[in-house]
Amino acid sequence: MNLLLIGPPGAGKGTQAKRLKEAYRIVQLSTGDMLRAAAAQGTEVGLKVKEGMDRGELVEDALIIEMISDRIDQNDCKNGFVLDGFPRTLPQAEALTGLLADKGLALDYVLELAVDDDAMVKRITGRFTCAKCAQGYHDEFERPAKDGVCNKCGSTEFKRRADDNEETVRTRLAAYHNQTAPLLAYYRNTGLLTSVDGMASLDEVTDQLKGAILRG
Ligand code: AMP
Repeated sequence: MNLLLIGPPGAGKGTQAKRLKEAYRIVQLSTGDMLRAAAAQGTEVGLKVKEGMDRGELVEDALIIEMISDRIDQNDCKNGFVLDGFPRTLPQAEALTGLLADKGLALDYVLELAVDDDAMVKRITGRFTCAKCAQGYHDEFERPAKDGVCNKCGSTEFKRRADDNEETVRTRLAAYHNQTAPLLAYYRNTGLLTSVDGMASLDEVTDQLKGAILRG
């Protein structure tokens, strides 16, 4: 099963993609994670994209499309995948349709996490993760049970994304509205799109997503 999650930064795509990955035994393909890993490793691609990412700007289409196409060819994607953060522009969406068709594949569901923009700034600027196991937390909504200690692995090291500051979040939200939101009409036209209420609790959102998949 091949899924696509769409929503602005902070909508919960990454969190929900991890849950769907486990529920359906598919892989999570997050272009943001891939680019951050490349930047951290200092690869050629990583060095090229880091500054723009830190400003909240989108990376050029051709680079992203090639990266995701190569990733989908890997063996672990055979059982299906959940795309999180790609496509983000109309040319990316059109390229995805074409490259999947060339591989004999297609998307089964496109799921929108519909959220309230103003709430996203608060969600994003407060979020942090365990540096060791990547468990997600929030300054206000989800603090570790014991301050400074990860609930899941006991690590005392945490990190925040370089682009999770208020100024950059506003640029990222603008990029979503200008460049990514037109994808909703594109996928509505193909009959693949279902919208769920991304402002509900994490468990409720997961249930709604699974419900949309069950209903077909
Ligand atoms: P994310 O982790 O999805 O919020 O992505 C973080 C940053 O990576 C974005 O603000 C962009 O700079 C870059 N990025 C991730 N996915 C894409 C994409 N599909 N197209 C262009 N830029 C992307």
